Order: sequence, then C-alpha cells, then structure tokens
Amino acid sequence: MSTLYDNGWIVTMDDAGHEHHEGWILVDGAVISAVGDGVPPPATDRIDLRGGVVMPGLVNTHHHLYQTLTRARAQEAGLFEWLRELYPVWSGIDAEAEYAAARTGLAELALSGCTTVFDHHYVFPRGREGLIEAEVEAARELGVRIVASRGSMDLGVSNGGLPPDELVEELDAVLAETERLVGALHESAPGARVQIAVAPCSPFSVTSRLMEESASVARRLGLPLHTHLAETVEEDAYCRELYGCTPVEYLERLGWLAEDVWCAHCVHLSPADVAAFGSTGTGVAHCPTSNLRLGAGVAPVPELLRAGVRVGLGVDGSASNERSDLFLDVKQALLVARGRGGGTAMTVREAIRLGTRGGASVLRRDDIGSLEPGKQADFAVWRTDGLELGGAEDAVAGLVFSAPHRVDRLVVGGEHVVRGGALVRADEAEIARAHRVQARRFAP
Ligand SMILES: [Zn+2]
Repeated sequence: MSTLYDNGWIVTMDDAGHEHHEGWILVDGAVISAVGDGVPPPATDRIDLRGGVVMPGLVNTHHHLYQTLTRARAQEAGLFEWLRELYPVWSGIDAEAEYAAARTGLAELALSGCTTVFDHHYVFPRGREGLIEAEVEAARELGVRIVASRGSMDLGVSNGGLPPDELVEELDAVLAETERLVGALHESAPGARVQIAVAPCSPFSVTSRLMEESASVARRLGLPLHTHLAETVEEDAYCRELYGCTPVEYLERLGWLAEDVWCAHCVHLSPADVAAFGSTGTGVAHCPTSNLRLGAGVAPVPELLRAGVRVGLGVDGSASNERSDLFLDVKQALLVARGRGGGTAMTVREAIRLGTRGGASVLRRDDIGSLEPGKQADFAVWRTDGLELGGAEDAVAGLVFSAPHRVDRLVVGGEHVVRGGALVRADEAEIARAHRVQARRFAP
C-alpha cells in the first residue's frame, strides 16, 4: 500500500533545506519512500493537498500535560511564587485527572501540527498509581508519539528544597519505578511510538544523589536524561547559596553535561555556559512563551546554535503557557530572538528547523524531524487559502508570521490523526467536556 500526497508546498527540513513548491510525498506504510516535485510516481492512493504547506511534524521537547487542569492561576507570579502556590493544588493529581489532562494537551498539540510530544511528569503523590500509563493511553488513543518521563522530586522544604514535603518521594522508590516503566512501555526501534526518559525535576527540588543515581540508571538502560535548568535569576541565587556555584557548574559537577542530556529553559547562561553546552553536546528545550509568561527572560538561542548546541522547542506546562500550540511557539522563538538581537537574529526557516529537526535531535531521534526517504511519515499540512495569508507569496513565512493556525491534516507514521482540521480518532468536544469535569476538582 502506497499513498501519494500530491499538490503541496513541501518544506523538507533536510540538511540543505530543500523545498518543493509543487511537490509530493510518497508514503509506503509508516515510512516516506520518496519526496519531490514535477510528475509524481504511481501509487495505490492519491491525496490532493490543494496547495497546502507541508512541514515535518513538530516535536515538542518540554511539557507538563497535567497542568492543563490548573490554567490561569498565579497570574502575576514569578517561577518560585507560582510553584509554591500550585504545588499543593497538584498534590490532588490521580490517574483519572492525568488521563483527561493528557488527552486535552495532546489534542491541542496535534491540532497545532505536533506529532511527537515529550512530557515531563514529576508530581507523584503517594499512593497514586498509573499516572504515566494514563498519559501513554491518551497518546495511543489520539495517535501521536509520546516520550513520557518518570520525573521526580526528593528535596522537600524541610531539607531546603522548594516543594512541600508531602510531594517528595524516596530515592529508591523513584529508581525502581523508573525501571518498571521502562520494562513495561519503552520502545527502542525506529518508529517508536512510546518511549521513557529519566527526568528529575530541578536543582531546587531534587537532591544531588538522586541526580547522580538517575543518570546512572538512564545510562545503564540507554535512556535520555532531562531536567529544568537556569530558568530564573532566583534559581541562580538558590544554586549559589546551596551548592556554591551556578546551575550549569552544578550540572557539570554531577556528570550531567553530556550528549544524552537536554535541559529545559537555559535562560540565564554565561558565554562560558554556552560554550560548555556546545563542547559537551548537551541539548536545550527552548520555551519562549512560558519564559515570557513568568517573566523569566529570554534564552540566548542564536548563541547556542552558533556553539553547535542541539536546540528544540517546548510549549512547557499549561499553567505557564495556557495554550499547547507548538506552531505558535515557532513564531514566539522567532520574535523573542529578534526582540533580543534585531531583525536578522533568526530567519523563519531557522525557527521552523528548531521545532522540527532541532526537536528530533534533542530527543535523539533520527527517524523523525524531516521529510526524507526512510524517515517516518510524520507531517503537518496547513491550508494557504485563509484570509490571513492573502498577499503572502512566501506562504511558509506567512504561516509563521501570522501564527497560530489550526492544522488541516496531521499524519503520524502514515496514519491520519487530524483531517479537515478535526481529530480523526477522538471527539474534541467530548475531550473538552471530560476535562472540565476533572479540572473542577482542582478549582480554587
Ligand atoms: Zn517545565
């Protein structure tokens, strides 16, 4: 069975950045077999994209899906104050709420063109089981890929940490549960739809010992490692006081500056920090909307890219970016780079590359992120006949500058997840209703 997707503007995001203005993609099963323009090859089925713009499926590299339950709280707070207000609310999370939250966040992401979602879950109230299984079930139901993390916190307020003591776990239990989830859920072959990452939460909520032990479990099992880092000036001050060094120096000391690690935010980096990320191969999840919402600052992304750092984009949790729209964050990445460094600081295509190839490389996936033969058939198609694109000869640039947009079609591993702007395998209105029932449990 082969399917030809014809009559589209194909943005391949291959190494040379090829685009086919009157192009096609040939898909065999789950994999792309050819991409080009001109006379298309024969195929079993043909789908007319009607001049739509086709991009590789976006890859989200940082999120907390459960936070869709608690949006628009702590509206003027910075990170630490925001966390202190929300930790007690989040202690009510259970599998039922997590499932509703994940379906909502994943549906929003799919409708924004995202085919692969990393979720950083680190809130595990005692006695609540099945939280990671619930989000994996939601991803399977909708049809998107998920990299779920067994996150953790073990440094409570009584030991100098930020989270309340009742939300922190015992180190041995965290590591045992991580291994169990890997055995139950992790796929390692190309085309994997479910993977597990190891992700202790942050320097101010995790002990050094758990950071080190997490790294050794991840390295033994061949899993990627993730944490929050250098998000705010308060975190910088906290690290200097508690550990006597900057967040990046702290990570280096723990053996966490390495090719199998990526860190969320990385807003407050010195030139030496940027160089250290480059020389060690450590990746970054850039979350511009969340950083603006919490007033954290803007990450030095052009400098990171010049240093050869792998950089992807993240919407971050829905309590600090109320909209899980990754295409909007492609635009935000472009705008904040220009706000910081002027009009030539980043091109439209560089911003798209962050959201596609960059994200795939941050998650260490070479089977997704570009439209090339042999890659997974993961792509998003946007219509170009709407009001906002009139007058834009460069429809690709027009789409980014005028974002956000609902995707017309989303294909994951050759299967339709969105068609005609609607979820194919789930009912959006039902997801929204079920989510409100759960969210009410967390209402102030
Ligand atoms: Zn986060």
